[in-house]
Order: sequence, then structure tokens, then C-alpha cells
Amino acid sequence: MAEQYVADSVALKERLARIQERIARACRRVGRSPDEITLIGVTKTFPISVVQAAYEAGVRHFGENRVQELVAKAAVLPGQIEGGAITWHMIGHLQRNKAKDVVAHADWLHSLDNLRLAETLERRATMAERVLPCFVQVNVSGETTKFGLEPDAVHAFLDALAPFEHLEIVGLMTLAAPAEDPEAVRPQFRLLRQLAETYNPRRNPRVRLRYLSMGMSGDFEVAIEEGATHIRLGSALFGPRLEK
Ligand SMILES: *Cc1c(COP(=O)(O)O)cnc(C)c1O
Repeated sequence: MAEQYVADSVALKERLARIQERIARACRRVGRSPDEITLIGVTKTFPISVVQAAYEAGVRHFGENRVQELVAKAAVLPGQIEGGAITWHMIGHLQRNKAKDVVAHADWLHSLDNLRLAETLERRATMAERVLPCFVQVNVSGETTKFGLEPDAVHAFLDALAPFEHLEIVGLMTLAAPAEDPEAVRPQFRLLRQLAETYNPRRNPRVRLRYLSMGMSGDFEVAIEEGATHIRLGSALFGPRLEK
């Protein structure tokens, strides 16, 4: 068991180093600095020991797509909101009845995509006396299976978030369509960036779209070239997962 853990943590450090090189190269191609990129290790389906090994290797941002799993892991390794040294990102679809848990245990939310959810989060965040940084999720791929707002609806949605003083709208988030060739999804990333760039901040001064959460294991370099600031990496960092 101990031997296994050592072997895994060596492999993890190597994968992390290779990913950091790839991030640096992608940044260099477009004149960006790697300091602009936040690497989120997506630990869904992996045990807490993997989160701990990644922490040892220097990863400080972690993402989960199910609230229960985030809550269980945050009980061992709390995020900043609970006084910990890491940042927990809730990156998956969120049901309103789990809003309370997100407000209590997650540092950031990447999947805000409807007003009723915003209302519930606002109420919970007010009670908890905190501000929740949120990305608004957009469906740029047109796939009906994906959550997120239609691109045409994004600006009006951002306007409608004006009353929610405990939600800080920091940017837009998307999942591109799965593709063999990451070049195929470049227009989807570009569309997300354009949606952020074309929002007139005078429409809602509390919306400051300074971040873009886009890019996963198969397409993060293209996402960086198109302006990603937060990339969400699971399998590239931790190896294949046992899907639930
Ligand atoms: C699982 C997941 C990821 C990471 O996927 P990989 O392809 O393993 O990097 C990123 N974002 C979201 C929302 C996810 O659910």
C-alpha cells in the first residue's frame, strides 16, 4: 500500500511537470504568462489520498462535479472558506437543494446557469455572510446533453444577476464538445471569450468577467491559446478514472 502510494506520487509529479511545460509552451505561443493560468486538479472519483498526493506535489486548486464528493473531501482537506490552504471549485451541475452545501464548503462555483439557482445561492450566501465567486456556464457546443445557457441568452442573464450582492460574477465557463482533434473546438472557446469581451459592464457594474474557465485534459492548450484562465484537468493529471 505504502509502496503503491510512493509510486503514484512520483508518477503524479512527473505528469504535473509535463503539464506545466505544456501550459508554458501554449502561453508562449500567444504571448501570455503561465502566471495567468490556474490549474484545477479534477479529483472526481479519486480517493482523498490522490488529493493529498497532488497537494504534496504543489497543486492548490481542486475541482469536483458532485456536491457530496466535494463535501466529503473538504471534510479532510478544507478549502479557504473553512480556513484551509486549498481552493475547492464546484464544477458540475448544481441542484438548488445542494446550494447550502456549496455555500458552506466550496470556494468557487463554475456552473451558475439559471436564475432560480442564483436566488437560492444568494439567500444561502447572505445567511452565511459570505460572497461566492461564480462563473456563468455557457453551452457553446450546441449539444443538447450539456448544461449551461445558450450563447444568445448570456448577456441578458448577466443583467438579471444585478440584485444578487453575495454572488461575485467573475467570468464564463464552458465544456467543449469531445473531439479527436482539439483544433475542432477552437471556435467554441473563441465564442466564450467573445461573449465575455462583448458584455458592456455598464449593464451590471458588479459583473466583472475577468476569467474564463475552459479547457480539459484533451483540449487545454487550445483553450489557453483562446484565453482560458482556469483549466480543469482530470485524467491528464491523475490518469484514467473509474466512471461512476
Ligand atoms: C471531469 C470534468 C473535467 C475534467 O475532465 P478530463 O477530461 O479528465 O480532464 C473538467 N470539467 C468538468 C466540468 C468535469 O466534469
